[in-house]
Amino acid sequence: MESVGRIGLKRLRKYGGVLYGRDVRIDQILARTDPVFSFEFFPPKTAAGRDALVRTIDELKPLDPAYVSVTYGAMGSNRGQVIEIVSEIKNRIGIEAMAHLTCVGHTREELSSVLDELASVGIENVLALRGDPPPGTDFEATRGGFANASDLVALVRQRGGFCIGGAAYPEGHPDAPDMETDLRHLQTKVAQGTDFLVTQLFFDNRDYFAFLASVRDAGVKVPLLPGIMPVTNLGQVKRFTEMCGAALPTDLRRALEQAGDDEEAVWEIGVEHALQQCRELLEGGAPGIHFYTLNKSASTREILTRLRAED
Ligand code: FAD
Repeated sequence: MESVGRIGLKRLRKYGGVLYGRDVRIDQILARTDPVFSFEFFPPKTAAGRDALVRTIDELKPLDPAYVSVTYGAMGSNRGQVIEIVSEIKNRIGIEAMAHLTCVGHTREELSSVLDELASVGIENVLALRGDPPPGTDFEATRGGFANASDLVALVRQRGGFCIGGAAYPEGHPDAPDMETDLRHLQTKVAQGTDFLVTQLFFDNRDYFAFLASVRDAGVKVPLLPGIMPVTNLGQVKRFTEMCGAALPTDLRRALEQAGDDEEAVWEIGVEHALQQCRELLEGGAPGIHFYTLNKSASTREILTRLRAED
């Protein structure tokens, strides 16, 4: 495992949210800010959803996220919306933004033109992903497009002008035959020019630390930001974990099942579990936390406020 020592949470008091300055590239932010907190949103489908998202981001802004990221929908169906939302976040709300971009349904030329559009609104950070196929189908590269994220990373690097993030999977990617093969592909993705990695959600920190150790043993040196999703709904978390292959620890599952329809109790269990994960991750030297907000602010706000208030 990486030799990080017990850095402790006092760095939160020292640095929390105030050192981002004028850095706009996430690799620069990661180099100078410790820890880095970021929030992920998805583009809403309706006007009401969009208003709710803007409210959520406004509510989270006082927490000074280092950056926020916006997901890219299947087949690029929400391409215009993603560009509009990241531009609004960066240029109107005033928070650094990262656009996700996937290979699904796009040719190389289309991907290049999305990059040009992002650059034209001042976006300098891209999370380069393969993307998932429509539910129930296997991933197939689009003719004239790319079969994996590494090729997209290479395109973005060749174009220049962007800091590039990539996805990583502490419990292995569901399509990978084994962790070793997945790690080899991750090495390639980083060798092609990925500047930092964000993990898939996970609920057991041992998975992150074991993965970090093997990533470092494999010579991959870029920052590995853990992705945390506070559980607020058992049905939803079951769907997510089935989809992405993350395991829900038995204790957490039982506690959530016992809470049943008591929404407040479920929320508290989810927040306490995520808070404890964040504490341990930061104490163990994680460079920050990437929160999967699911477009809701309350649990992320509660967790971050309590983390910053603690020694
Ligand atoms: P890759 O790195 O290409 O890996 C995918 C699979 O292919 C792995 O099994 C890998 O081992 C294998 N592989 C890689 N390279 C090769 C190779 N050269 N030869 C053979 N096999 C190879 N999805 C969306 O649709 N929109 C989003 O906005 C989005 N945001 C995400 C954000 C984060 C932080 C994470 C962790 C995931 C996100 N996803 C998103 C989901 C992601 O698109 C899926 O997990 C997808 O299945 C894999 O994408 P990837 O970029 O990790 O792919």
